[in-house]
Amino acid sequence: MDLLNTLVDKGLRRELPTREEALAVLATSDDDLLDVVAAAGKVRRQWFGRRVKLNYLVNLKSGLCPEDCSYCSQRLGSTTGILKYTWLKPEDASQAAAAGLAGGAKRVCLVASGRGPTDRDVDRVSKTIKAIKDENEGVEVCACLGLLSDGQAERLREAGADAYNHNLNTSEATYGEITSTHTYADRVDTVTKAHAAGLSACSGLIAGMGESDEDLVDVVYSLRELDPDSVPVNFLIPVEGTPLAKEWNLTPQRCLRILAMVRFVCPDVEVRIAGGREVHLRTMQPLALHLANSIFLGDYLTTEGQAGKADLEMIADAGFEVEGADQVTLPEHRATAGGGCGSHASAGCGSQESAGCGGHDDAGCGGHEGGGVCGTAAATPAVTEPRTDLVAVRRRGAGTDLAPNA
Ligand code: SF4
Repeated sequence: MDLLNTLVDKGLRRELPTREEALAVLATSDDDLLDVVAAAGKVRRQWFGRRVKLNYLVNLKSGLCPEDCSYCSQRLGSTTGILKYTWLKPEDASQAAAAGLAGGAKRVCLVASGRGPTDRDVDRVSKTIKAIKDENEGVEVCACLGLLSDGQAERLREAGADAYNHNLNTSEATYGEITSTHTYADRVDTVTKAHAAGLSACSGLIAGMGESDEDLVDVVYSLRELDPDSVPVNFLIPVEGTPLAKEWNLTPQRCLRILAMVRFVCPDVEVRIAGGREVHLRTMQPLALHLANSIFLGDYLTTEGQAGKADLEMIADAGFEVEGADQVTLPEHRATAGGGCGSHASAGCGSQESAGCGGHDDAGCGGHEGGGVCGTAAATPAVTEPRTDLVAVRRRGAGTDLAPNA
């Protein structure tokens, strides 16, 4: 297909595809799906080989959030029976992080619910970062604490944070339909602050909230403009007790097309499959490794993932390898650019993310416009049976007496 040849050429040159080309990827037919995966896989291998970076989430503070993000089970008014607790002690957070690192993760993502941290919260998290770094040499730490005030990104950087996650989640045009208590501009501002402070920026999206193909392309182009080192792609988990509980819009094929589009638009960036991997990709998860070079190990913030051991087996069975602590995540041109992550250049990290923050939650594709942009048949309608049987609220790990899944 001419479209795919063009996109591979552009991806290998780090050239931005046109919006029409990005939309055409989302509109490809199921007959073309393996060709799409193979094409985006070439771009993935060019910049990341067959390495898969593992990241581990530690939910420092769960629930009790005054914000109203519709996708989030920690939101104001959520009736999902999630774990609710306030700040974990540094030693408890460090213990949870150690489990993930022992399981093969190289990055720990420290996430806290809430609009944003107070200066006292930044102090708390700084102590936690120190506790984790003292115990685990070479670990990358990403903080995800919501909207940042002036000076807080610098303080986190000084405390040893390598990266900061804050997702744009969806397009600017639809942002107001998802959340009313803060704005898209607030989110852009926080990503910009993190970048400016020398933190490796991590910012991504949630697909499956009823958005159109144009919305998805808009948010991915906005992300490319912000130039994060890592882009987590969440697939909405429609959790009972949230306003989006009925939004079961995704198919495994749709998820693969979205990941391929993100890879073509952000070819040399760490693309991470975040929340919703097990629920929406299901048995197609291994194919997604040809597109993304990073996943979360084990559980998410408020929901359970597949067993960490199953994650490792899947990576090995699919012919990929877990990225080691001594391997640099990002391609050389990006790792030495001074952004930090992936890298060792300035910030140290080596790379970054979180499923969640800013969206702090575990997220999910929906709209299905766009057929025919490149003359292909329309994609399969995004209609799927709700798989509530695959959604389990997290009852182990941080905030419980039970061992974490890692
Ligand atoms: S995504 Fe973050 S800010 Fe929004 S409701 Fe959830 S915890 Fe609160």
